[in-house]
Amino acid sequence: MLSITNMLFNMQILDGIATSNVIKSRIKQEVDALVQSGKRRPHLAAVLIGDNGASLTYVGAKVKACEAVGFESSLIHKPADITQEEVLGIVAQLNADDRIDGYIVQLPLPSHINETAVLLAIDPRKDVDGFHPENVGRMALNLPTFLPATPYGIIQLLEHYKIETSGKHCVVIGRSNIVGLPMGILMQRNTYPGNCTVTIAHSKTRNLKELTLQADIIVAALGRPEFVTGDMIKDGAVIVDVGITRIVDETKKSGFRLAGDVHFESVSAKCSAITPVPGGVGPMTIASLLMNTLQAAKG
Ligand code: NAP
Repeated sequence: MLSITNMLFNMQILDGIATSNVIKSRIKQEVDALVQSGKRRPHLAAVLIGDNGASLTYVGAKVKACEAVGFESSLIHKPADITQEEVLGIVAQLNADDRIDGYIVQLPLPSHINETAVLLAIDPRKDVDGFHPENVGRMALNLPTFLPATPYGIIQLLEHYKIETSGKHCVVIGRSNIVGLPMGILMQRNTYPGNCTVTIAHSKTRNLKELTLQADIIVAALGRPEFVTGDMIKDGAVIVDVGITRIVDETKKSGFRLAGDVHFESVSAKCSAITPVPGGVGPMTIASLLMNTLQAAKG
């Protein structure tokens, strides 16, 4: 159902599951070729501190995806009361371990751990999340680097569906270090996808609706369920919904459903293309992390 173009509204679903499967099968072929040539499999490690339910789910999905493409994976799971020194010790070990090509430290970290200190300690050559300041700088200067997985996934999705970006006005809602900020940087770069005129909106933005009504492309990454509604967009806009929030839904067996930052029903009636939630940006994020790990393994 997700891969069809909606003929009624001439609206296209940007299908993250199908697109990520294409990327993953390419990665698997490359891994098979590496192994056949006598090299070892790429190895991704994940550091998980504490028992945050969402983090457990995300890390579990990443480990599963590694297995599916033939990577080695390791999960280092520590209790929430771990000390800062112990976390830095794990990071130092991963930096020194030649069998690990890349690793991630799943965020958020418990409040007593200094997140910046941990990110700064990661060897930028193994920083497959692309969060180290050196890699963020390289991204800003359009130098080879690991792009942060979520914006990278969105870029690949836009490319896969040949969405026109040059000269378009892209409004990114949200300025977090992991999504909004890098997304804005990538969309204004002199490349494809890119060459947009970018507006970054945040919680202090006063005239958001005025801005979104001018947008050719909207990337909604604010973490507020169904915030972007049909009356906020112009006809034919391209909509990327990054948000994932669990909201209570008694009609579901699990008792909840996942909601994006976009009100799908009203927005999909007006836009030309949209990412669904789930099945849009989420699977692309994981595929991008795998791409970065393969790149790290190839050196
Ligand atoms: P975050 O760190 O909480 O940042 C949210 C951003 O939205 C902030 O910059 C905030 O502004 C801005 N914002 C909040 N309310 C706003 C409003 N009413 N109007 C305009 N801007 C507003 O969140 P995040 O980590 O970027 O994540 C955003 C969403 O994406 C969450 O739902 C998260 O679960 C989801 N996510 C999905 C994936 C995926 O793979 N699909 C990956 C990462 C995140 P201020 O800076 O002024 O506070």
